[in-house]
Amino acid sequence: MTPKQTQNYEVWFVTGSQHLYGAETLHHVNEDSSAIAAALNASERIPVRVIFKPVLTTPDEITGMCLSANSDGRCIGIIAWMHTFSPAKMWITGLGMLNKPLLHLHTQFNRGIPWDDIDMDFMNLNQSAHGDREFGFICSRLRLNRKVVVGHWQDEKVQEAVGIWSRAAMGFNESRGLKICRFGDNMRYVAVTEGDKVEALKVLGWQVNYHGVGELVESMNAVAAQEIEKLMGEYRDKYSFAVLKDDPVRYQARIELGMKAFFERNGYRAFTTNFEDLFGLEQLPGLAVQRLMEQGYGFGAEGDWKQSALVRIMKVMARGMEGGCSFMEDYTYHLDPVRPSVLNAHMLEICPSLAGQKPSIEVHPLGIGGKDAPARFVFTVPPGRGMVATLVDMGGRMRMIVNPVEVITPMPLPKLPVARALWVPEPDLETSAHAWILAGGAHHTSFTMALTVEHMQDLAEMFGIELLIIDKNTRITDFKKELRNNHVYYQLNK
Ligand code: MN
Repeated sequence: MTPKQTQNYEVWFVTGSQHLYGAETLHHVNEDSSAIAAALNASERIPVRVIFKPVLTTPDEITGMCLSANSDGRCIGIIAWMHTFSPAKMWITGLGMLNKPLLHLHTQFNRGIPWDDIDMDFMNLNQSAHGDREFGFICSRLRLNRKVVVGHWQDEKVQEAVGIWSRAAMGFNESRGLKICRFGDNMRYVAVTEGDKVEALKVLGWQVNYHGVGELVESMNAVAAQEIEKLMGEYRDKYSFAVLKDDPVRYQARIELGMKAFFERNGYRAFTTNFEDLFGLEQLPGLAVQRLMEQGYGFGAEGDWKQSALVRIMKVMARGMEGGCSFMEDYTYHLDPVRPSVLNAHMLEICPSLAGQKPSIEVHPLGIGGKDAPARFVFTVPPGRGMVATLVDMGGRMRMIVNPVEVITPMPLPKLPVARALWVPEPDLETSAHAWILAGGAHHTSFTMALTVEHMQDLAEMFGIELLIIDKNTRITDFKKELRNNHVYYQLNK
């Protein structure tokens, strides 16, 4: 990864202190804090810029900093550290107003105790061991969601944890104000793709807008023939071209260009389609959707706007990392008694960012939808570590569910003309599917080979929504208790 390729994002490093110790101590606090901020800024494990802010010593300064952070478009979060003691009543007003994600870095400037030289001046300067506990109290007293990271600031583990939180903050920042375009409505009678769009705007910041598919057709008709030929040239350069006739591919190129122009005109970064609602289209958008996902757009099929937004957010969080991200669907099982697995795919729409080798463009008929045979990418996702995430509306609140998986190599699939991935979820298929079904998890997911559970944990914390983790520690009896306890907690916490 190119260091800091996401450097338009800033997190602010703020240090709390007070005037009790005199100017000399505050001078040291300022110097040490700026050294830590500079080290975090230089760390390749932290993808964003870390900006040092002058030490805060009064309630007015703290409130002022929080208000500036709120209104600064580049600032996506605050890292707070108490070098000395900073009486936490000073923080109540500011933290109460802060609307950016908060990370509490519980560190210390010096790694060890200088046994021979330590005196009371040193003790007064280096007292985060108790200053940070005072700060922790007020965060808990105010019921603030935040991430706490403990350890020396030069440690890889500490910088890695700050980096993961920064990526979640990038996702949270993207989520606020994210516009999702729905071409057509949700697939008729399907339950899990539905959801409360007012709740989504209130809690997640999403604008979920409907557009008749005729608006897409109009935008496609406005695409010039030479633009389509230029894009066809790009397809031939970048991918294997396994088609007898170009016209079905040319039609997907027209969809891609028409959709992209529509999104750019209207500020959309995620979208849905629905194969039941293709009036005026000759093919289900396949290759076009895959290409747009590859360019960073979120996508959900059958009107699934929740998954579409999640794909977009996770793509933003994973910027510059190895490993792709896509919309996915649990399709069919391989109930091998030794190691059962699940084949994931969709009718067409899997993102080629997951492809190990050059994906091939192919044209095959679809069993459903009643339209022309659509062009699509076909490839097999190579083996490796991955994770699925999904978002469901439980009625009055949103629930996120995540599950790490191990992608394995399937047998050859000569007659299956779609992109696909075969995997074994943690802890095993039986427990994973059991827990997933008890949790009400969707058959649609956002699949990543870049992000981990910790990224999603930090993101869910920022949203203040429920997160259920299915992993190697999951036991069904405990998981059932967690579901029941969470149900009560989220009722009471309203
Ligand atoms: Mn589907």
